[in-house]
Amino acid sequence: MREACDLVVVGAGPGGLAAACHAAEAGLSVLVLDPQSQPGGQVWRGEARKRENRLARRWLDRFAASGARFRPGARVVAAPEPGLLLVEEGTSSLAVRYGRAVLATGARERFLPFPGWTLPGVLGVSGLQVLVKDGLPVRGKRVVLAGTGPLLLAAAATLHRHGAEVLFIAEQAPAARHWGFALQLWRHPGKLLQGAALAASLVGIPTATDAWVVAAEGEARVERVRLSVRGHEETLPCDYLGAAYGLVPNLELAKLLGCEVASGAVVVDERLETRVKGVHAVGELLGIGGVDQALVTGELVGHVAAGKPVPTGLERSWRAVRTFADQLARHDAPREELRRLATPETLVCRCEDVPLQALDGCRDLREARLYARLGMGACQGRTCGAAAEVLFGWTGEDVRPPCLPARIGSLRLPSPPPHTRAS
Ligand SMILES: Cc1cc2nc3c(=O)[nH]c(=O)nc-3n(C[C@H](O)[C@H](O)[C@H](O)COP(=O)(O)OP(=O)(O)OC[C@H]3O[C@@H](n4cnc5c(N)ncnc54)[C@H](O)[C@@H]3O)c2cc1C
Repeated sequence: MREACDLVVVGAGPGGLAAACHAAEAGLSVLVLDPQSQPGGQVWRGEARKRENRLARRWLDRFAASGARFRPGARVVAAPEPGLLLVEEGTSSLAVRYGRAVLATGARERFLPFPGWTLPGVLGVSGLQVLVKDGLPVRGKRVVLAGTGPLLLAAAATLHRHGAEVLFIAEQAPAARHWGFALQLWRHPGKLLQGAALAASLVGIPTATDAWVVAAEGEARVERVRLSVRGHEETLPCDYLGAAYGLVPNLELAKLLGCEVASGAVVVDERLETRVKGVHAVGELLGIGGVDQALVTGELVGHVAAGKPVPTGLERSWRAVRTFADQLARHDAPREELRRLATPETLVCRCEDVPLQALDGCRDLREARLYARLGMGACQGRTCGAAAEVLFGWTGEDVRPPCLPARIGSLRLPSPPPHTRAS
């Protein structure tokens, strides 16, 4: 199948939705692609059905009325030439010709290996939260959460609300860094209120800074977790461990399109245009900044795509959310000790079963791929690539198509319908 549009938006999270709404309301033909069955991205997952979150409801209703077309179950897997994307939709494929593109592919959790991190029952912090939001029953289950930043508290609040017994929240950041970050929040009143509400909902749950998981232990699944808490080791029995250290942007498609990436984020100008003409980036691709950043940047690009002047208020908001993103990046930076938790036998790449010791002697990601098969499995290095960056300072290589695992058929340009072929 083939589709054509003025603006293609890849990713239907808050960033993509805000861009799509503005552009479609201005009369552009807008196509939004996302593998999920409903728009909303990570943070508003399931909101199209549940309608509990007022902000999500407002944007999802606006999107539904905007005239933008949404294709669920659509994953962009390749970009064979400028202005063309190849999309996999279940067992069929689609070629999309576009005038302008907005990349809004969001972020994923950063996993750092420690002994036992691949045991059943050990999940990401937000991953566990998402499963619970999608119906995983946790009532009465003992849960330990370890990670960093506001998402740790958000996950704890969700689990607590669903009846889990949250035994401990381990924040890796040193106390000075953590409280310094909290004190800066007066500059972002919305975040301050959210943080205060989360903290209030978690009163009574033991929480510590300078705390991280040393190991998860158990036979068939996690049974207990060993934690380092301000220099002392503690062991807690548990049914689930959520452990991940912040988020990293999903940069694969941006790299595939040739966009420049620096310091782990897509490089953009003041119109949020990447170095590739007509291709913009929004939301987490600009550096992890949360929902507000996604909405502000999406709105800004929507104005640019529609050829409308960007309101000064929006530019001011963009500067404010950038400041928050910089503060968050400093807060969430993994501490040195987290680099030394894996033993020689600990798997770094769980798709290809690559232990730490197999990487001895590798000088970069390329050698680790060639000699040890790091990142050669189903996730294509999405998990171990981010870990290798923290562990060894290896930064990602160029991305080759497909940017997500895909069927061969999805990489072929679909033939035009018979009546449009030259006779
Ligand atoms: C697992 C997880 C849970 C989170 N939970 C919360 C929470 O509870 N509260 C909170 O405040 N923040 C949460 N966050 C952070 C939140 O996602 C971001 O702050 C915010 O949603 C960013 O918006 P975005 O539009 O940039 O990206 P996202 O909302 O992440 O949306 C990106 C979208 O792009 C799609 N996509 C990615 N690659 C492709 C591709 N190749 N082709 C097509 N579509 C693609 C994804 O399916 C996704 O729907 C969570 C993040 C993660 C990773």
